[in-house]
Amino acid sequence: MQIKVLGSAAGGGFPQWNCACRNCSGLRSGSIRATARTQTQLAFSPDGVVWFLLGASPDLSTQIASTRQLDPPAGDTTGTPLGGVFLPSADVDSLMGLLHLREFQSFFLFATPAIQKIVQSENRIFDVLHRAEPPVQWQALSPGGRLACRFGEDPSAPPTFLCAPVAVGGSFPDFISTDLRRSLPSEESVIALRFEQGAKSFFFAPSLPGISGEWLKAAASSNVAFLDGTFWSDDELLSTGRGQRTAREMGHLPLTGRDGQLAQSPDDSAARKVLVHINAPNPILDETSDEHRAVRDAGFEIAYDGMEFTL
Ligand SMILES: [Zn+2]
Repeated sequence: MQIKVLGSAAGGGFPQWNCACRNCSGLRSGSIRATARTQTQLAFSPDGVVWFLLGASPDLSTQIASTRQLDPPAGDTTGTPLGGVFLPSADVDSLMGLLHLREFQSFFLFATPAIQKIVQSENRIFDVLHRAEPPVQWQALSPGGRLACRFGEDPSAPPTFLCAPVAVGGSFPDFISTDLRRSLPSEESVIALRFEQGAKSFFFAPSLPGISGEWLKAAASSNVAFLDGTFWSDDELLSTGRGQRTAREMGHLPLTGRDGQLAQSPDDSAARKVLVHINAPNPILDETSDEHRAVRDAGFEIAYDGMEFTL
């Protein structure tokens, strides 16, 4: 399996267009050591030819354009190596990029039934995806289940890879009508995704609203775990004047604090732990900061755009 990080920042990217926090200002002026990042987006390929997107970020168009593995196949006048998109939630950050994929192209869309319903019934603008011939094809992801994905026509052939979605708690985004929200099962709102191919596996969870034994186990037993690195502290948005809610209220377990990720993540895991979805004011983005050193000392890596893995 090949995995490529196309984007590693939280919503808004880094620097964020309307943010003058210490990090964004420092990056613009060159006064801190840090690297610009686009909004979180992963791609993986089970065979080095067909690629799948994890989420569909608002920066997807430029992320695809700067990734040679995602160029249209040589010799074809139209086409793409993209086989499909796995949606971990209905957040704007995870859906908006679908509109970049609207150019009459068929592919698979993998999501929980609740997220499919949100995209199809609450947001008619996404109907543009169904203009392709054949239209985009939805595949249901069931938290706790395992979806076998097979290349080729033979249904008895072994799966090319497996996807195991894990419910992580959380809630549906604010833009969803109250009536629809009430009718949807909450366990289908935010999921982590574990992909398995033979003995190799990786875990992707850009939103982790809290600690649960289930996702900790799925992450710890993977070769690589991409984990929610949005906030350093629970009051980061309040203290930087960027918002009125805590990290937890926004569905993101902070890195620090008694029950934060650094304290809870198991030390005995063999997984490479890689932080993604990093919010612009998060001090770990300053490569000379104490916070940057602290997460590295705790065994975490900090994702950057273009980071690649081969399993
Ligand atoms: Zn900022």
